Amino acid sequence: MPVCPDCNGAKGGQALVNYRDRGCVLEWADCSLCKGSGEVSDDTLARREEGRQRRADRIARHVSLHTEAETLGITVAELSAIEMGREYRQ
Ligand SMILES: [Zn+2]
Repeated sequence: MPVCPDCNGAKGGQALVNYRDRGCVLEWADCSLCKGSGEVSDDTLARREEGRQRRADRIARHVSLHTEAETLGITVAELSAIEMGREYRQ
């Protein structure tokens, strides 16, 4: 399978996680595109490219993520996932 273009095969990276008791801590987080596998399927690559185009199109129209989600009748989280090429699960 192709190497994940988001993490370049690193499978994830350091991310800031905010804990109530400890504050912000740097922790390893699995890459959200390849889910920590370092590889992606052709389908995932195609979905990511489609999402990028959707995002570029929305930004060219000067429409916010919030407004676009409202227009499409979906949540901001859903639209964000679509634009990032991630699978969205409620
Ligand atoms: Zn990845």
